[in-house]
Amino acid sequence: MSDNKFGQIPMVDLKEELRLIRDPVLSMLTEVLDSGDYILGDKGEQLEKQLAQYVNASYGLGVANGTDALQLSLRALNIGPGDEVITTPFTFFASGEAIAQVGAKPVFVDIEEETYNIDPSKIEQAITQNTKAIIAVHLYGQSAKMKEIVEIAKTHHLRVIEDACQAIGTEYDGKRIGAIGDIGCFSFFPSKNLGAFGDAGLVVTNQKQLHEKLSELRNHGSEKKYHHSSIGMNSRLDEFQAAVLLVKLYYLDIFLHKRKEVANRYTEHLSHLFKTPRTTDNREHTFHQYCIELDNRDELAAALKDHGIASAIYYPIPLHLQEAFHYLHYKEGDFPIAEKTAKRILALPISPMLSFQKQDYIISTVKRFMETNG
Ligand SMILES: *Cc1c(COP(=O)(O)O)cnc(C)c1O
Repeated sequence: MSDNKFGQIPMVDLKEELRLIRDPVLSMLTEVLDSGDYILGDKGEQLEKQLAQYVNASYGLGVANGTDALQLSLRALNIGPGDEVITTPFTFFASGEAIAQVGAKPVFVDIEEETYNIDPSKIEQAITQNTKAIIAVHLYGQSAKMKEIVEIAKTHHLRVIEDACQAIGTEYDGKRIGAIGDIGCFSFFPSKNLGAFGDAGLVVTNQKQLHEKLSELRNHGSEKKYHHSSIGMNSRLDEFQAAVLLVKLYYLDIFLHKRKEVANRYTEHLSHLFKTPRTTDNREHTFHQYCIELDNRDELAAALKDHGIASAIYYPIPLHLQEAFHYLHYKEGDFPIAEKTAKRILALPISPMLSFQKQDYIISTVKRFMETNG
């Protein structure tokens, strides 16, 4: 039996968040209903403008989801069969999947032990004549080492795509990530730091030509109705999702601030027990996930569950060991840091709506477990 007086504590409490934004969301959704415009309308355009401005990019374009954002970016950069794209093996599957979707070959590079992001010092040895781009993932909300990555890309004439799906609003060297590389990709999957009520995504760029190409590709390769200059996709962000996101964008900075507050409290109380997230001066962390690292994470997860507290493993299997990528012939031992991390990482509940009382209960439950099992 759980002694949890709070009921179940989930990883993210979207219902709690809805309580706060219900009225403005309903009135925005009603506006869309009454407009009769459901795809590629005013709300979508407003959102594109506001989000581009938010991340300091010249152009923003709504797309159907974060995975499509990645795939469209690769296609806009003319990457396809015969090409190689470098990325991290320690990420959500879509970062590698998009590379395979366009017919290119994913090439993985191990991560930094400190931040779990791709290790720039290992990138150059993975570059071949066929390498066309690097997908830098800002995992858990923490910026990848962009200066080093961009420098390597310049030296070797590679393009840089930022997978910023977990990191909207994160700053690197005082600038918001997403518009540092050639194209930035965002996901608004409901549980992301800025979440829609369904699937949605965004691409941003500072390059007009790329923006035009992306705009065409997301809409059946068509700039002018019924004139198709290339084979594109049907990947648009609909007006209902845009309306929801416009309301939520208004709260984003407050929510990110709250996440950091919750994260700091975890670190303050738990950092002496096991490895907690490390942050560096110029690489901000907006805590899409708060991940700890320990030997007996499965036992801790079970103990938390017994007390009505959710936890999750992001991610239990690195991409190079996924069944879908067997054809790439990677094997256990190829990326030791990613593999070790996958066995030790555990995400604790974090959301802007997590009350300090609930968090204190999580902290004391973790502490009690560590006293007897640490
Ligand atoms: C969520 C996510 C994606 C995919 O976004 P969807 O909107 O779910 O398609 C890609 N990369 C990373 C790192 C993600 O976290």
